[in-house]
Amino acid sequence: MKLIKKGVLSGIIFAMTLLMTACSKYKVKDEQVGQKALFPDYEYNQELAQQIYGQSKMAIAPNGYYYIIDNILYFYNIDSDINMPLCSKVNCRHNDNTCDAYVSTINTENGTFECNCMGEKIMYYNGSIYCIEVTKDRDYYLYQYDSTFSNRKQVTRLASIKDEQLMVSDAQACLISDGYMYYYASYLDSKYAENDYTASFYACRIKLDNNSSREVLGEFQFPGDYAMKAGQSNGFSIYFTDNSIYFYAGGAARMYTANNSVQYHVSKYNPDNSQYTDLYVHSGNSGLNVFGEGTGYVNSMSQGGYVRTDSEGNFYIMTSSKAKDNNNIIKVDFDKNTCEVIYTTQMEKLDYLQSDGEYLYFFESDSVKDKKSLLTVIDMSGNVKTQYEMEYDEEYMAEMQKHSGQNVNGNSYKPDASDILVYGLDGRYIVLGSRTTGFKNLTTSDTVDYKKEPVVGVGIINTKDYLSGSNVSIKQIYQYAR
Ligand SMILES: [Zn+2]
Repeated sequence: MKLIKKGVLSGIIFAMTLLMTACSKYKVKDEQVGQKALFPDYEYNQELAQQIYGQSKMAIAPNGYYYIIDNILYFYNIDSDINMPLCSKVNCRHNDNTCDAYVSTINTENGTFECNCMGEKIMYYNGSIYCIEVTKDRDYYLYQYDSTFSNRKQVTRLASIKDEQLMVSDAQACLISDGYMYYYASYLDSKYAENDYTASFYACRIKLDNNSSREVLGEFQFPGDYAMKAGQSNGFSIYFTDNSIYFYAGGAARMYTANNSVQYHVSKYNPDNSQYTDLYVHSGNSGLNVFGEGTGYVNSMSQGGYVRTDSEGNFYIMTSSKAKDNNNIIKVDFDKNTCEVIYTTQMEKLDYLQSDGEYLYFFESDSVKDKKSLLTVIDMSGNVKTQYEMEYDEEYMAEMQKHSGQNVNGNSYKPDASDILVYGLDGRYIVLGSRTTGFKNLTTSDTVDYKKEPVVGVGIINTKDYLSGSNVSIKQIYQYAR
């Protein structure tokens, strides 16, 4: 698919390019310098910034966001409004493994485990960046960098296939809280296949100190084949609420067996009294009403990576009432064993649920009559707070209409919300990326051939403006160019 070439670069992008060439002078400030004026009500809370209400594709620092575009680690500095790769090399094009900002994850295509950023999970805590490195012998180490992604230091070993037959199960399901990193480890032995691809999984934590030792908080049996390939998400997540760490595991379609294809395991750990409790264990072959009567079908979007919580330990899960697209959000309290449907979309489907503890954010999209996507916010009871319709890029639309001819459905070239990537959000911004050109202010300046699904544009929405429904717009901070 060939797309339009843009003639004019916006001022932002031009300024960004200029600044990129001067990146050796770049330094991240650790204080909230210029933000007081911009966000007078925002208070950086390190524990909250760990995205305790669900997994985030960015790490939140006092002055900005760390996130990855096509294997390059970027930092968007809110104070200076500068977005750039964390690389200080002169004349670097920031597009391969010679770049200082290059990050790699386990290569699921060729089974290469060696990488410096498992699961593309970036964590930020006490002024440092943390990533999990995997050696080719499959030792899993936690590494620490300074806030500019320099001064790499090994912290501790999290697991080892070589010595213990133990792996880190899912890097995205890692959470730092109160000086500890919480994670899942799983035991891989020769009996794995014999045991119906079920393995021992361990809820673990480890102190962020040099050579600290893993603590096993709890253990459970769970399928190891919800992920397609090693290194991909297996349905896990970890959440921190007011008084507990919750471990959520769930899947609805297994790779190697049809037996008990739908399994869920939810447990919690109380750091104050070191108590670990199983809250919910489910095993069966139907995805219908797994969480209670009328809650619909669970599917891949009901797995840990897409599930969100609030500060009280309620879980918010997308389900489907027709075993097709997700159209419901259900609220589940595993402690009290209650559940309810709090929202059902009038449109075709829901995507990318996010939570800030007070509100739930998600996309609703439709393609029946006129393709459109809304960014919707509801409160924790399901009342709509605000909705924003994603705008299409006028230049793109004009170009596509010109080339499409009369046989092409007017909707076919419009992207929908499933092409959007939500990096994360906080009280300052909602950070969105787009894998395809077509959305206004999430566009590329270049012709894209879609070989690699690059992120063509990244933009931010002011969270407060958005919640109040006034002056909502996306400001582009990154634009793909060849
Ligand atoms: Zn570079």
